[in-house]
Amino acid sequence: MIIEVVVDWRLRELEKHKRLKEEGAIEVTDLIRCPLKREFEEKFPDLYKASAYTPATILGSLVHLGLEQILSNELNAEVEVKGEKSIGEYKIVGRIDAKLGKVGIEIKTSRADFEIPYDHHVLQARIYNWLFDLEKTVLVYVTPDRITEYVVEEDIEEDEIVKLIVDKTAPRYDWECRYCFFSLICPNKRKK
Ligand code: SF4
Repeated sequence: MIIEVVVDWRLRELEKHKRLKEEGAIEVTDLIRCPLKREFEEKFPDLYKASAYTPATILGSLVHLGLEQILSNELNAEVEVKGEKSIGEYKIVGRIDAKLGKVGIEIKTSRADFEIPYDHHVLQARIYNWLFDLEKTVLVYVTPDRITEYVVEEDIEEDEIVKLIVDKTAPRYDWECRYCFFSLICPNKRKK
């Protein structure tokens, strides 16, 4: 069945994502989301893997794959570029969707186009500007109602990154629990 092929591919993608979180390293995506999620991913790997079956995440992965291919073919962009930097004892790692010299490109999919660009995406772009020494990062949104892009030129101070590392507020955003696979077992779930 085609669905089996797609889900197997998604599971391999999740594994790849997991390997990026080397021992002790902090991934950029963990700095912009609820810190409990990372803990739960390790404690409940089956629940984490269940996300491979969610249509919205499959759709998001397919859009990423397609747009990265287009950027590579048409603009000769580097895709899925890994970066690493340290601040004292902390090693921060990240993978940006595409890079064209000093310009980063981060692809985002969303169910709706209200309030884009989202705060956590702008924060991610600022961290990538620092991590990859970029002049700017372009956030490209693909939604059912709008395909558009936003340029983020601001960098982030290392102090701010350290604050994000030590901040254990869970969730970080009110809306996070609504889309969280771990809400089934989480004591911090918010219903707002
Ligand atoms: S349900 Fe909410 S608080 Fe719990 S892990 Fe998910 S996002 Fe974090």
